[in-house]
Amino acid sequence: MDDARDSDAHAPGDLLDDIRDIIIHDGPISVERFMALALTHPTKGYYTARDPFGAAGDFTTSPEISQMFGELVGLWAADFWERIGAPAQVRLVELGPGRGALMSDFLRAARVAPGFFAALDVHLVEASPKLADRQSEALASCGRPVSWHRTIDDIPPGPALFIANEFFDALPVRHFMKTHEGWRERLIGLDDDGRLAFGLGPEVEPFLRAEAEEGAILEINVAAQRVMSQIASRIVEQNGGLLAFDYGYLQTGFGETLQAIRAHQFVDPLDEPGLADLTTHVDFAALSRAAHAAHAQVHGPVTQGDFLVNIGIVERAEALQGRANSDQKTQIDTALGRLTDMSETGMGAMFKVLAVTRRGVAGLPGFEGTHDGTD
Ligand code: SAH
Repeated sequence: MDDARDSDAHAPGDLLDDIRDIIIHDGPISVERFMALALTHPTKGYYTARDPFGAAGDFTTSPEISQMFGELVGLWAADFWERIGAPAQVRLVELGPGRGALMSDFLRAARVAPGFFAALDVHLVEASPKLADRQSEALASCGRPVSWHRTIDDIPPGPALFIANEFFDALPVRHFMKTHEGWRERLIGLDDDGRLAFGLGPEVEPFLRAEAEEGAILEINVAAQRVMSQIASRIVEQNGGLLAFDYGYLQTGFGETLQAIRAHQFVDPLDEPGLADLTTHVDFAALSRAAHAAHAQVHGPVTQGDFLVNIGIVERAEALQGRANSDQKTQIDTALGRLTDMSETGMGAMFKVLAVTRRGVAGLPGFEGTHDGTD
């Protein structure tokens, strides 16, 4: 699985030299451009050049931890389909499907609802050809037509259900810093030793007026808000919904959350572009505002722990354990514990779940007791 790291003709390590050249020719680049290059450069980006998942990789995601995750999302979606009028054809769109685990488990579980299953055609939005290959293997006998797209613009029209786990956190953000003259964009240039270093853009940004102490940083997930806006508009016009899982926070505030992880360890985000995963914590308030601006309804966010427990993960674990041996039983308990861990740094608490629908959809399973603050 680590083969790409050592043997690729285009070793991803070259990306650092490419970025230096860009800076030498064009001047310092935005954090947004840096993140986009580091993650999705056509041949040397982190996602485009490697398969970063699993115990031997850089991180492990919920669908990789347990089949229960995708199965529960599939069952949730079958119920959701009824709530939106059971359209005869639904585009099932997954954003950033990784190795295809979520979708494969989703579709297996969705077979219990034959009408829903028959309505689905699967559309995977994926920037990485390597991961698209993995998805193709995982879904070879999934029983529904599958196609791949580079962006959501290419998905054919009609009612669509969008699913995303750890997708929004991979979209590039912009940073701004408060100086004594006003807000200036945080850029990445070269220091005297030729190393990548943070600096500031020459212009004061007149569109930013937030009051803050000098040195405060604003992180704005422009790309994520754009995607949310597009999806929410499509849902309002053509019917459908979005269910998104990500680690993130509930109130927009100051401070930056850009982080780099390699082999399950934090590393300096500027040190190894293309070799380390770069993410930010998702600003759910900003995503909700983008959906509201498109006249959609927002459900949640709720914590992943509450969501999964409310839609029946404990019962699902018990059912699986009923036909498992003792090792498997322990594995199921461990997975259940990780996915719903509500301690401060546990996945159950750190990850939030948000749904977007047309207005007037109420009582979605997993979101009981939440209400759309702006309606
Ligand atoms: N959902 C998967 C993978 C999460 S990692 C899981 O939970 O296991 C992020 C995924 O998004 C990867 O598949 C990555 O290749 C994809 N991705 C990242 N940036 C993207 C972009 N700008 N456009 C499309 N896909 C992107």
